Amino acid sequence: MRLGFIGVGYIGHHMARSLVRGGHELTVFDLHREAADEVLSLGASWADGPGAVARVSEVVFTCLPGPRDVEEVATGEGGILSGASAGTVFFDLSTTDPDTIHRIAAAAQGQGVQVLDAPVSGGTSGAEAATLCVMVGGDRATYDRCKPVLDLIGDKVMYCGGLGSGAVCKIVNNMIGLSVGVLLSEAFTLGVKAGVGPAMLYEAVSKSSGNTQAMEPFPGDLFKGNFEPGFQLDLAAKDVGLATEMGHRLRVPMAMANTAQQRFIEAQNRGLGRRAVGAVALVQEEMAGVEVRT
Ligand code: NAD
Repeated sequence: MRLGFIGVGYIGHHMARSLVRGGHELTVFDLHREAADEVLSLGASWADGPGAVARVSEVVFTCLPGPRDVEEVATGEGGILSGASAGTVFFDLSTTDPDTIHRIAAAAQGQGVQVLDAPVSGGTSGAEAATLCVMVGGDRATYDRCKPVLDLIGDKVMYCGGLGSGAVCKIVNNMIGLSVGVLLSEAFTLGVKAGVGPAMLYEAVSKSSGNTQAMEPFPGDLFKGNFEPGFQLDLAAKDVGLATEMGHRLRVPMAMANTAQQRFIEAQNRGLGRRAVGAVALVQEEMAGVEVRT
């Protein structure tokens, strides 16, 4: 199949590589050409913009930072829709909101282009191992037809429902995972300041009712003090913001997620935005006057 991929950053380049290894013809574009060096060396081709990618692709993927980037790349001048034709399929793998994907689908409707949201979970390691969870919303028949391609990037590919359903599942997931991360930083600073080391705390909690996947793998980057991205704190802040904005719009009280969001904003204001998501714990460590390290 002729595939296109736009946005080969920290997680996107792993997925693009899996598609090439799956035997497909891949055309890529990224604002930073050097980000594509690896997939180009594996046999992918370069195109000079999103429209040029769409012109030569049956299925186009985007993996971009946030909703505004995706909308611009899809519907802006020289965007995907400018090069797509009837029958082109567009999967957005980025974490965005359901409204964005609905606006893009509305713009694509007259052209016979199928638009589906397909955000992923599992991090860069999951992308590298092709074990991502892929949460897809949109036309069921298109999903069924393209599932073998999606299976190349994840081993937990699921149909979530109509357009936007994948985005909703992903936002709910990240709201939980990221809020729990903030809670974990509080819990571990408390335990360590009270005199019990992180390894013992993990040993006890992982076998008790407080156990959570957010501690895995232990000792992860957080406990080693390695904050090289991976998953940038700025993008995590965006994800918690997508949840709280949706809660605001739907009038769902979300005290916990809003508290977590404040901590992410604080971390951004301290210049931690380009570091890994776990760097949010540095704010708590400073406030608590204790460092949590194995
Ligand atoms: P990233 O910033 O590393 O990659 C984004 C890429 O998009 C960059 O290479 C950038 O140059 C490119 N880009 C930005 N604007 C562009 C444009 N207008 N045209 C073409 N290319 C453009 O981010 P990432 O970590 O790879 O994340 C990408 C998406 O995946 C985000 O929505 C993120 O929330 C989601 N996600 C990331 C992870 C992770 O572990 N990194 C996990 C799950 C989901």
